[in-house]
Amino acid sequence: MRIFLSLFVVLSFFSQNVMADKAPPLEAAYQAKRVADDVFVIHGPKGVPSPENQGFMNNPAFVVTAEGVAVIDPGSSVQVGEMVLSQIRKVTDKPVVAVFDTHVHGDHWLGNQAIFEAFPKVRIYAHPKMMERVEKGAGAQWLDVMMDMTKGATAGTRVVSANSPVDEGSLIRIGGVEFHVLHDGKSHTDNDIMIHLPAKGVIFLGDNAGYGRMLRLNDGSFQGNIRNLNRALATGAKVFVPGHGPTGGPEAATEYRDYLQTVYDGVKEFFEEDLSDFEIKPKLLPRLARWKGWTDFDSLVGSHVSLAYLEVEAAEF
Ligand SMILES: [Zn+2]
Repeated sequence: MRIFLSLFVVLSFFSQNVMADKAPPLEAAYQAKRVADDVFVIHGPKGVPSPENQGFMNNPAFVVTAEGVAVIDPGSSVQVGEMVLSQIRKVTDKPVVAVFDTHVHGDHWLGNQAIFEAFPKVRIYAHPKMMERVEKGAGAQWLDVMMDMTKGATAGTRVVSANSPVDEGSLIRIGGVEFHVLHDGKSHTDNDIMIHLPAKGVIFLGDNAGYGRMLRLNDGSFQGNIRNLNRALATGAKVFVPGHGPTGGPEAATEYRDYLQTVYDGVKEFFEEDLSDFEIKPKLLPRLARWKGWTDFDSLVGSHVSLAYLEVEAAEF
């Protein structure tokens, strides 16, 4: 009896500790914006994860269908995922039946946990390369990154990986709505998917585009990213939902594509004049004036030039 009692004490202490370890819910009030029939986007703050934004800075979205709700990119933590669920509850009491994770960067999918805990039967779709990377430890790394950058605001989050692979050409039907998956090689990463809803005229770009905000391209390819954005534009969609920044029309894809193209073409031109990447940056900056006001332009343009330089160099030889 004493043993059972001690075990009970130990167990309840442990579970209390686990509870206490979960950081509080998001403080700021966010709103889901309707961008098409039954399609909603919660536009996160621009910028990088911080204690102030509690790690929330992507664009979670949801689509209400006759069968249930599909979520795209439930965010960077269990707290963000729970906020997304509470926004869904304001619109419908249907269950969440599907989640699409656009790529492996943790600010987009660590919120899977909240959806899975509320709806354990949920199908979570992602590219197989993303699932493989999460399996090999990318999820755990992203948990650390989020905890560091937010000073613990994402505590309590754990890795819940996708359970259903999708790839170029996959067609998922949910409650009569078709979700077409696009993946055309290395782009923002090697595992991005875009989701096109022809009946709604909507495409979710993931981080193939930021709008008003620059994105890291360390895991990606300029030429691949440009190619994927051109494919997104060729769908004829009317509503473009970027990974970060406001939803728009085609300009939410063309602005970022034109930036990538301007950097790549400029670097190529100066590379052929035998300039090094640090000599190229100041010569290129005047051509990039159009994007100067974008969030994180100053902190990322140098790395974009260096990455484009490596890509041009690799293409030349
Ligand atoms: Zn990303």
